[in-house]
Amino acid sequence: MSQQQESAVLSLAKDLISRPSVTPLDEGCQPLMAERLSQAGFEVESMVFDDTTNMWARRGTQSPVFCFAGHTDVVPVGDLNRWHTPPFEPVVIDDYLHGRGAADMKGSLAAMLVAAERFVKKNPNHQGSIAFLITSDEEGPFINGTTRVIDTLEARNEKITWSLVGEPSSTHKLGDIVKNGRRGSLTGNLTVKGIQGHVAYPHLADNPIHKAAPALDELARMKWDDGNEFFPPTSFQIANINGGTGASNVIPGALEVMFNFRYSTEVTAEILIERVLNILDAHGLDYDISWVYNGLPFLTGDGPLLEATKAAIKKVTGTDTDPQTSGGTSDGRFIAPTGAQVIELGPVNATIHKVNECVKVSDLELLTDCYEAILENLLCK
Ligand SMILES: [Zn+2]
Repeated sequence: MSQQQESAVLSLAKDLISRPSVTPLDEGCQPLMAERLSQAGFEVESMVFDDTTNMWARRGTQSPVFCFAGHTDVVPVGDLNRWHTPPFEPVVIDDYLHGRGAADMKGSLAAMLVAAERFVKKNPNHQGSIAFLITSDEEGPFINGTTRVIDTLEARNEKITWSLVGEPSSTHKLGDIVKNGRRGSLTGNLTVKGIQGHVAYPHLADNPIHKAAPALDELARMKWDDGNEFFPPTSFQIANINGGTGASNVIPGALEVMFNFRYSTEVTAEILIERVLNILDAHGLDYDISWVYNGLPFLTGDGPLLEATKAAIKKVTGTDTDPQTSGGTSDGRFIAPTGAQVIELGPVNATIHKVNECVKVSDLELLTDCYEAILENLLCK
C-alpha cells in the first residue's frame, strides 16, 4: 500500500506506533493528538504529573460529556530477537498492522481521533461535549495518570457522563465483546498464631495449622453470592500458604495465608471482610490480618451508553455484542467511581503485550466507524 492510499486511521496509527513511548513516556504522541484536536475545535490541556504526561481535551461546554479514554504508553518490547519486524517501525503485512501498541492501544487512539474529526465535521453543533482523557501511565504504576486527571476534574466539578475506553476488548472479531464493568479485587494477608513446640509434646504447644485448617476449609467452601446478570459469583482463592520450619519434629508457631477475592457488585469489600472475620472468630483463632484493596467493582448496566454502543456495533459489523465483566483491570476503574457510565470497546486482544503485536487494518476502519456511530447515537438526537 502506498503512502497516498493509506486511510486516515492507518496513517495516524502508524505515526503513533513509530514513537517508542514505553511507560511512562509519551514521546510526542499527545502533542500530535492535541494539534489535531485543536484544529477540530477542542480546548486542550496538558496535565503533567511527575513522570507522566496526560491530556484532557474537550469540545463544548455543555452536558452530557462523552469522553474517549486511553493511553499512549506501551509495554516494553521484550525479546527483540523474537520480533519479525522492528517494534517501533510500523508496517502492514497481509492487512495486519504490526508494531508495539498496534492493538493496545494506539490503533484505538487513532480510531477515536479520526472518528471525532469526522463527527464534528458533519455535526459542528452537536449536543453536549466530546472529551479525550489520555494518559502515558496506564501500563505502569497508574499513580500519576488517569486517577490524577480525574482528581483534577472532580476538584473543579467537571463531570464525565459517558466514557468509552479503547482497551482491546474484542476476542475473535471486532465488537464481539465489550467490557461493561470489572470485578473488584481484595487481598487478605492472614497470620494465625500458635505456640511453637516439639511434636512429641503437643500439650506444650499450640498448632496453628490444625487450628486454621477447619476455618480455611469453611472459607474455601463458602458461597459468597450468586453473582448477577453481569458478574459471575464472587470467588475466594487461597494464593499462598506458609507454615513450619522445614523440620519434621517442630510444631510451627505461626501459619501465614494470603488469599484473594474477585467480587461482584452483589457484595462489598466491607461485607466480605466482616464475613471472613466472623468465620475466623467462630473457630477461636488468634490471628492478625491486613487487607489490600486492589480495585472496586463497577458496572455499567442498561442505559444510554451501553445501548448506543450495542447499536453502533450492530450497525457497523452486524454483530450482537456480548457485554462482559471478565478480565484484568483498566483505567475505567478510576472513571467509574465519579458516577460516569464506562464501556470498553477496542480491537481484538490476541497479541497484546506479546512480541509481534498486530491489529487488523480493516478492524481499525470498523472501529473508527463504531466510535463515530456511538457519537451519533448519543450526541445527535
Ligand atoms: Zn491498554
